[in-house]
Amino acid sequence: MSDLIKLLPDHIANQIAAGEVVQRPASVVKELIENSIDAGASTINLIAKDGGRTLVQIIDNGSGMSAIDARMAFERHATSKIASADDLFLLHTKGFRGEALASIAAISHVCLRTKLHDQELGSEIVNEGSKICGQEPVMMANGTSIAVKNLFYNVPARRNFLGKNTTEYRKILEEFLRIALVHPEINMTFHHNDDEIYNLPSEGLRQRIVRVYGNKFNQRLVPVNEETDIIKVSGFVLKPEFAKTSRDQSYFFVNNRYFKDRYFNHAVSQAYEGLIPSGKFPPYFLYFEVPTKSIDVNVHPTKTEIKFEENQAIYAIIRSAVKLALGQFNIAPTLDFEQEPSFNIPALKKGEQVKMPEIKVDPNFNPFKSTAAVTQSSGGGSRRMSTVGFGESKSIDPSVWENFYGDAKATEDAASTSDLEKSVDDSAGVEFQTIESSMNNEMAVQRKKPTQINEKYILTSIKNGFLLIDQYRAHCRILYDQYLLNAEEVKIESQQLLFAEEITVDKTDLFIWKELSPALNELGFETVIDKSQIIISAVPTSLENKNPQRAIIDVFEGFKVNQQNNDLDLKASVALSMASALATKGGNKLTSEEMQYITDALFASSSPQLSPHGKKIIETFTMDEITKRFN
Ligand code: ADP
Ligand code: MG
Repeated sequence: MSDLIKLLPDHIANQIAAGEVVQRPASVVKELIENSIDAGASTINLIAKDGGRTLVQIIDNGSGMSAIDARMAFERHATSKIASADDLFLLHTKGFRGEALASIAAISHVCLRTKLHDQELGSEIVNEGSKICGQEPVMMANGTSIAVKNLFYNVPARRNFLGKNTTEYRKILEEFLRIALVHPEINMTFHHNDDEIYNLPSEGLRQRIVRVYGNKFNQRLVPVNEETDIIKVSGFVLKPEFAKTSRDQSYFFVNNRYFKDRYFNHAVSQAYEGLIPSGKFPPYFLYFEVPTKSIDVNVHPTKTEIKFEENQAIYAIIRSAVKLALGQFNIAPTLDFEQEPSFNIPALKKGEQVKMPEIKVDPNFNPFKSTAAVTQSSGGGSRRMSTVGFGESKSIDPSVWENFYGDAKATEDAASTSDLEKSVDDSAGVEFQTIESSMNNEMAVQRKKPTQINEKYILTSIKNGFLLIDQYRAHCRILYDQYLLNAEEVKIESQQLLFAEEITVDKTDLFIWKELSPALNELGFETVIDKSQIIISAVPTSLENKNPQRAIIDVFEGFKVNQQNNDLDLKASVALSMASALATKGGNKLTSEEMQYITDALFASSSPQLSPHGKKIIETFTMDEITKRFN
């Protein structure tokens, strides 16, 4: 038998390596900007088209390369940054693997132009899929320009795998910021399609952060400074009232390199303990300096995860540094020993009788009262539980009931999950009594009175127990179906506004608005984009009672989040944002009719069990489970 093992040709090896280094246009942006910084550039311009699919170009005024180096740069493991393995541990540059250019060139059309400062002419190289197609001298400014066109043109699977242009655009923006926020000394610009997104002059760190996020940020920043033997921490955190529901303004840098770290995130959150509600995150910009030997940047191919030798000590330092900063700015609540008035115990006067403390008790309270009341009036037997006074919610303290459900849930969780799944599956179709089928039996009469629990859940009885329906998720499902179906079958009705409304939007969001606009118009809005103004002349009739600006901004914000989190197409994504923005939220009181409508429409929807966000809408409580709990 002949020998079978062959060495892979270079261009194939490069394509494979590219899979690691280049996942999307944003990876190209990261690698190229890092190269420009390593080349000592003081100005870096980024130009992208169509979320980077068509073009990513970086122009810098760094050192440039000789004609020979320019050719060499495309070779795999070609780097000017390390010469021996020892250098790896003393890294001060961003790149060192010598893989980026080789990888990028393997899967795109690259045009590299570069000129050393002391040369008259520069050199231009065109490289297509790892093949150098030509090199010639050119007149150009000092520095380097690299244009990367048609990314993944020869790897269709990868190209198809890319997100929508808006998604890729946002990833690019994020990479740009990860550099801009740690190199305020560098002039940086970002153009996307025909829009100038950022134009950041060389400046100080605080000014840079404020320029990126807007003047309002200046008042929000609290400086952090801490120096210990193992680490120096500096930067800014935001005052607690500006905590956000997402982590998207949280930045750690170590030795000028962006990195992610959930453990350290936690340290920052800990410093805010008691100052912000759970589920909110404080934005922060924290810069660490550590001896290069004490970290390993090589653990992740795209280098956003970093191993620290003294993990735990650093955790404690971050927490206390942030805490101290908040304290110094009088933001942390100071412990004072003034007692709450209700705890004030007056000093006992001589001869005074000690009174027994009074405890207020409601002698009439009986958690089973409503059960008893209904038991009398209902038919009894196994159906009794399904009516347990749920029609008389007004007399029930919701918190009592909430506890009741909380416990029921806990027990259920402990029980076999397959049972649980089965009961959830059963609930939708079979046991639920539709109005049509049972108008004239006793159950239907009971069903006519769904009850709202804690202004959040609708409780409705079924033949063999009861259901709790999450009102918000249910309503989302109903609206989402309506928008999508309507948009497919009939045009959604619009209501013309008496006066067109205008919204001025953030430049960074302009591209997303442009992508979003046709889908918005299909769903009943009429919007036109004029420079950075969105002009709204009509809204869907369902939105009539809402402030149109607020409504459209809610839809837009929801859309941005959806885009990050799932792969819905544009219209579905807008429908989801509209549904989320318009559905009746927890905390809204519902009338019986509204509850009935939600229940009926939910069961007529395409998927009563799951909200369009993929969350559970219905929880079922069967008689069997309930009976078991009384054993
Ligand atoms: P690495 O950055 O890991 O060394 P790259 O593939 O990114 O590997 O780049 C290869 C080499 O090309 C670099 O080591 C550097 O010498 C040169 N190079 C790349 N981009 C630039 C640039 N913008 N200016 C000057 N030299 C560059
Ligand atoms: Mg590099």
